[in-house]
Amino acid sequence: MSDGTGTSGDLDGTGAVRAARRDQAVRAAVKQGLLGPDAPVVGLLDVAGIRESAAALRAAFDAVTAPGTPVLHAFAVKACPLVPVLRLLHEEGIGAEVASPGELALARAAGVPAERTVLDSPAKTPGELSEALALGIAVNADNPQELERIDALTAAGRSRSPLGLRVNPQVGGGSIEALSTATATSKFGVALRDEGARAWVVRAYLDRPWLTRLHTHTGSQGIPLTLMAEGVAQAYALAEEINERAGRRQVDTLDIGGGLPVNFASEETTPTYAEYARVLRDAVPGLFDGRYGLVTEFGRSLLAEHGTVVARVEYAKSAGGRPVAVTHAGVQVATRTVYAPGAWPLRIAAYDAEGLPKEGPEVVQDVAGPACFAGDLLAAGRALPLLEQGDYAAALDTGAYYFAHHYAYNSLARPAVYGFAGGGDGDVVLATVREAQTVEEIVAEAGGAYAGALTEAARRGGSGGL
Ligand SMILES: *Cc1c(COP(=O)(O)O)cnc(C)c1O
Repeated sequence: MSDGTGTSGDLDGTGAVRAARRDQAVRAAVKQGLLGPDAPVVGLLDVAGIRESAAALRAAFDAVTAPGTPVLHAFAVKACPLVPVLRLLHEEGIGAEVASPGELALARAAGVPAERTVLDSPAKTPGELSEALALGIAVNADNPQELERIDALTAAGRSRSPLGLRVNPQVGGGSIEALSTATATSKFGVALRDEGARAWVVRAYLDRPWLTRLHTHTGSQGIPLTLMAEGVAQAYALAEEINERAGRRQVDTLDIGGGLPVNFASEETTPTYAEYARVLRDAVPGLFDGRYGLVTEFGRSLLAEHGTVVARVEYAKSAGGRPVAVTHAGVQVATRTVYAPGAWPLRIAAYDAEGLPKEGPEVVQDVAGPACFAGDLLAAGRALPLLEQGDYAAALDTGAYYFAHHYAYNSLARPAVYGFAGGGDGDVVLATVREAQTVEEIVAEAGGAYAGALTEAARRGGSGGL
C-alpha cells in the first residue's frame, strides 16, 4: 500500500495533483474553522476532480462510438445522493440513474430533466411506476410482474417514457458476493439462462412493440472488466435476436449499467473509463457501430476518489502496547469498511492539528471511530505517522458509498459536507453541500414529537390484551 498522504509513491500526474488539492482543502477547512473541536468530522468533495472524472467518462465513450450515437451517461445516484453533486454532474453532461422515490426526488431537485433520468429498482410500487411514466422518465422493468403493471399503465394512456427490461445474464460474480448482480441466483432482472427465460423475454418484446430498451448491470466493485463486458455482450446478443425476430430495430438502446471498480489502494486511477471502453469495443464491436443508443450507469468510479472524510483525533491512547487514535469517523461514515474491513480497506492520511500533512516515522496503530463497539475501526494495525490528540485522520476515496451514506449508530450526527474548489495560489473555496445534522434534528427524527406514544398506547389499551 502506498503512503496515505499521496505525496510520494508511483503516482500518475493526476493522482498527485488530486492529492495536493486534498491537502490544501484539509488545511483550509481547519483554518476556516469548519473542522475543529466543535466540528470534529466533515466530508470534503473535490469539485475539479468530479469534473475530471465526468470528462474522462464522456471522452472514453466518444472515442469508441460512431459519430452521432446517442449516449446518456446516467450517474447512479445511490453512489452519492447529494443534490449539489447531481447538479454539478448534470452541468457536466451526466444524467441520473435513480432507484427509489427519494433518489428520483433528489435528481429532480438538482434539475436533472426527465429525459436524462432512468429508473431502475427491484421493488417499484404501482405509484412509483405511474409517476415515472407520467414524467416521461425511462424505466427498466425488473421482472414479468412489473412488466404487467407497465402493461396496465401504458394501456391507460401513452407515455413518453422509453421502456426496457432488465436481464441478468448470469455470467457469474466477482470478488464481492454482495455486489455481484449477475450470479445464477441474483435477485435482479430476468434470469436469462433459467429454463424458458430467454424465449419468454423474446416473446415479451414481440408482444410489446413499445419495449425498446434492454438493461443489464453485472455488478459493482470486484467485478473484472472482462466479466462486465461479457454481461454486456450477452445483452447485446439478446437485442440482436429480438430485433431479428421482430424484423425491425425494436430494441434501439442498450443500458449497460455501471460497476467500474475503483482502486482504493493508491492514488492511481485504475482501471480507467478509456480502458473499459476499449475492452467493451473489443468484446462487443457491434455495440458501438451506431445502431444502438447507449445508456451507462456509473456511480462509484465517478465520485469515490473525490471524497475525503476528515476526523479529529479526540484522544490518543495505548492498549496492549498498540497506539489507538480515537477519532470521530467510524461506522457512521464508513459502514462497509468497519463491518467488512477485509473487503473494503481505506487508505488513511494523517494531518496535524493545523491540517498540514503529518510528518515523522511511521508507527503501527489503530485508527478508531467514536461508536460504542470494539470493531469500530477505520483501520487496524496501520503504519502512519503517530496520530496525537488534536491531529486529524482522513479516510481517502470516500466520495461514494461512505459519508453520504450515514448509518445512525449511537445517534451520531450526519457530518457536514463541503465541496472545495480553487486553491493553487488563491484561496480554497469551501462551499456547503450539506449541513451537519443537529442534535434537535436527531431527536425529531427519533420520534421526539411522539414521546408519549407508547405509554399512552399502553394506557389506552388498558390492562386487557393477550
Ligand atoms: C449500483 C448500481 C449502479 C452503479 O454501480 P457502481 O458500482 O457504483 O458504478 C448502476 N446500475 C445499477 C442498476 C445499480 O444497481
